[in-house]
Amino acid sequence: MDNQSRIKILDESLCNQIAAGEVVERPASVVKELLENSIDAGANEIIVELESGGGKLIRVSDNGLGMNRQDTFLCLERHSTSKIRKAEDLFALTTLGFRGEALASIASVSRFRLRSCASDDGLGQEILVEGGKVCRAEEVGMARGTQIEARNLFFNLPARRKFLRREQTELGHCADVVTKQALAHPAISFRLLHNGRSMLELRREKGLAERVATLLGRTLLSEMQVINVNADAAGICLHGLIGQPTLNRSASSHIYTFINGRYIRDRVVQHAILDGYRHLLMKGRYPVVVLFLEIAPDKVDVNVHPTKHEVRFREQSLVHDFIATSLQQQLKPAGWVQPPTQRVEEEVPAASSEPGSPLSVEYQTQPSLICEPLAPAYQTSVDQAPASASAEEHTTVVSPAAMASLPIVPGVPDSIEIVEHADRHNRYFSGLRYLGQYHNSYLLCQDGADLLLIDQHAAHERIGFETLKANFSRGVIEQQCLLFPEMLELDFRSAQALTEQLPDLARLGFDVEPFGGKSFALKAVPQLLATGDNGKLLVDIALELEQTGTRAGLIEKLDEVLILMACHSVIRANQALDPREARALLEQLDRVDFKANCPHGRPVMQRLRLAEIERMFRRQ
Ligand code: ADP
Ligand code: MG
Repeated sequence: MDNQSRIKILDESLCNQIAAGEVVERPASVVKELLENSIDAGANEIIVELESGGGKLIRVSDNGLGMNRQDTFLCLERHSTSKIRKAEDLFALTTLGFRGEALASIASVSRFRLRSCASDDGLGQEILVEGGKVCRAEEVGMARGTQIEARNLFFNLPARRKFLRREQTELGHCADVVTKQALAHPAISFRLLHNGRSMLELRREKGLAERVATLLGRTLLSEMQVINVNADAAGICLHGLIGQPTLNRSASSHIYTFINGRYIRDRVVQHAILDGYRHLLMKGRYPVVVLFLEIAPDKVDVNVHPTKHEVRFREQSLVHDFIATSLQQQLKPAGWVQPPTQRVEEEVPAASSEPGSPLSVEYQTQPSLICEPLAPAYQTSVDQAPASASAEEHTTVVSPAAMASLPIVPGVPDSIEIVEHADRHNRYFSGLRYLGQYHNSYLLCQDGADLLLIDQHAAHERIGFETLKANFSRGVIEQQCLLFPEMLELDFRSAQALTEQLPDLARLGFDVEPFGGKSFALKAVPQLLATGDNGKLLVDIALELEQTGTRAGLIEKLDEVLILMACHSVIRANQALDPREARALLEQLDRVDFKANCPHGRPVMQRLRLAEIERMFRRQ
């Protein structure tokens, strides 16, 4: 017994299944591998057909080189490839594939059918494989090209099949893969069909711009500019389209980067891009870019990850600095306006506060949602505010009619219902002595002998959030129709996410009408937001939904969405408030259920005790 070896060499089909574990995670991985093969085969027309998000069927057809009879068998073997021959070839790659394991892996975890023809005689070869075992091979009539079908992915690995998400999610990932390949190859026409319905139709285009217009929207394209920088000496080149800093997103999903035509998500490259936009974007916002880096194949190793999404550069910092500097230089001469200086982000040491007072609420200092600078229209609208209210009255300060032109006090009691504080007599904030505004960003107040600093932006964000939340739960979000519906074009996944949530968005006060394809018309918005950039807000909401998956539904993610909404509705930092407006803000703070909810974002206020101030002046 002891002499018998415990170690065994695994059989071929198990090896393939193990390899498939790395290469094939979900239907989208199959689509990616098959698309890469079609592109490597020189096709200029590719059709992707899916059923049930790809879980039931994935079929990719191309008009590329095709394979002869012998190769149709060989290509199914593990480590069979026409793309490399020797180790050195790994550093001179011009193809997307080279590992020779995709087809073997896919065939081992699906009901697989391959058809291919490499000649013009109209005769091709068909092979059927079931869970890695060839079960039939015969001649078929077909034109030059290849068609590969993978049905019932993971049918023989029920444990892995369970990991598949619902149809729409898987479809979204597949569409994402097609989008990325389509951006990198404008000269190839792509079609994506799901359950027989056409989802994407991309004609052959001359250049990237037209591809971006059809895939991501023409409006988006109009806010992008061409970049083309060559560093011949370093053998590296950067080209593509980069968005103006005003075109930004709440996630990095619109940063599309390609190295030598291969989509990659590399930390160095991503960092370099953000560096290129440094000082031009608010914290937490990401640019929209479609960037291609061309670099000598021997200067980059793509063979570091089975799915080849990551790379390793031989001269990492050179590549980083080249990208960052190229972007900085391209962005600078355009004279885009910088957002107003941000508030100092350093943390103020936590001030002590009396137990039981509203100030004893501890706020996490996680970075909060960063808002866009206020539209220039703001200042004039404040100037037009009716002067009727005296500085001392802090109940209803603005007539409802004036509200439309006065975004600054969206929470004024008579126009918006606000949840009453459990203690109706709580007049803590309005009872404070208002001293003035500091640095156009903070309200200075006196509470007994203490000095309070209230962050006007954070305070208003909180009021907006609590108000929206309370109104939503009571179903009283008031809607305002837009005079001119705003047209929005989204990318495929965001459009999907938004479509699924239209009924819930309606409950939030948004009237959004699908306008065919990935376009939507925004017709009405919650009144509280009526003066903001609503299109941008909706794009942010769609992205938020897409990022976290819509399975739970918008209502489950209500807080995040309401924070986004509140963020778009509020007073910004760097805004002069007159005493009347400042008092209205304090008044509103009393009216929201401040303590009951877990706060998000920065602290709203800080307290400086008299004793501390006296210590500063060495009076103690
Ligand atoms: P790799 O792409 O890494 O070489 P694959 O397993 O994906 O490995 O494919 C194996 C081989 O099958 C490829 O090298 C190629 O020669 C051939 N092949 C696969 N798909 C196609 C296709 N659509 N058209 C022509 N040849 C193909
Ligand atoms: Mg391949």
